[in-house]
Order: sequence, then C-alpha cells, then structure tokens
Amino acid sequence: MTPPPHRPDGGLAAYDVIGFDADDTLWQSEDGFRANELRFVELVAPHAPDGVDVKAALTAVERKNLHTFGYGVKAFAISMVEGAITITGGKIPTDVIAELVEMARTQLEEPVRLLPHVPEVLARVGAHYRLVLITKGDLVHQTHKITTSGLEHHFDELEVVLEKDPETYARLLARFDVEPDRFLMVGNSVRSDILPVMALGGHAVHVPYHLLWDLEHVDHDEKFTELASLADLPALLGIPD
Ligand SMILES: [Mg+2]
Repeated sequence: MTPPPHRPDGGLAAYDVIGFDADDTLWQSEDGFRANELRFVELVAPHAPDGVDVKAALTAVERKNLHTFGYGVKAFAISMVEGAITITGGKIPTDVIAELVEMARTQLEEPVRLLPHVPEVLARVGAHYRLVLITKGDLVHQTHKITTSGLEHHFDELEVVLEKDPETYARLLARFDVEPDRFLMVGNSVRSDILPVMALGGHAVHVPYHLLWDLEHVDHDEKFTELASLADLPALLGIPD
C-alpha cells in the first residue's frame, strides 16, 4: 500500500497525464465472459467424455489462441467453437455451435454498464489532469463501447492496443509527450495496467474488480497503491472535495 511518490509541490502537480484502463475499470466486462463460460460448460459438458474439466479445457484453448486471435469477445467466440469441437471429439451438435455464436453476438451487443462513481471521478480528476484511455482488445467492440459509454469527452486520447506491454506503453507515452515518471496508470489488471507501466518507471494505481480473467492472473512481488474503489482516486491525488 505504498502511495505513489508525490512531488514536494503536492499531489496535484505530481503527474502530467493519467491513463485509465476501460474494461472492469470504467465499465463491466468480465461479468459477460463469466456468464458465457458457465453457459458453455452447461452446453458442452453433456457431450464431453466423463471426467473432463470443460471450463479448464476452454481456458487452455484460449491460452493457445491468445497470440494468434488477440483479446476480446470475437477471439473468445472462436475459442468456444474450437473448444466445443475438440473437447467433445467432434460430437458437439451444430445447434450448440450456433448457440455459442449467438452468445458472443449478444455479448458484443450488450450496452455498456458503467461501474459506480465513474463519470464523477473522471470529471473531478479531468478538471486537474490530462486524461487518456488505454484499452486492449477488439477494435470494433472497444470503439463501440467507448463511443456509447458517454465518457469519451473526458479523454484527450483514446487508444485501443493489441497488447499492454512495456513496449506499447513506451510508444504511447512518447506519443503523448509525457515522461514515464510523470504518468500514472489506473486499472484493474496488475498484469496489464500496473507492472508494464512500473517497468518503464511510471506510476500505477490498482483498482481491483471482483472478477479477473484466468489469463490476467500474474505472480509478482511489486508494491503499488491499491484502492478499494475508483471513488477514492481524487483523494489520493489530493483533489479537494
Ligand atoms: Mg481491465
């Protein structure tokens, strides 16, 4: 729970740019994947050999496909179809495949559900800082979520990236013309939002969401600030009520 280092002139001058993750930081995302994972297990398990852990097998397919298909619902949909076929040795009925595709379509078309306090926190922080949004995944879906979220106007820059690694952050910070030690990233994923930014010498605040995708779990011994709620961010930054 080490607070980020602040300049002697106080919190409000400590950063030039604050980056926000989007999925499960500003709006719900993992809930939809979890619901569809559960439905996948219900649909596929009756056709799978006894003793197969259908959920674990699906995650293994997703892990194998990540590099090729990237992140997001469409990649998840292909992995569900591939998983249904391989887990059942090709015995999965085509009406189940059709339902898996429909599940993905519904997930893609779901309206954005903002997490609590998000618009007011962005308004308060944005009154003092230049804000950027950095999200990874499918370009079509992420762009749709950004433009329908009602949050777009808070951000100077909106970046949909393929991967959130130090190289990507370094490229973005150069484009934003901000030094790493003047940049703060806020997000729910230690693997994607915290560690790669700290690796560059930047600062990060972790705001965990109650669900985390298996492939976002990471072992680490870094220390960083963790907030129970995004609503605590303005106080952390020294923004007066
Ligand atoms: Mg996230």
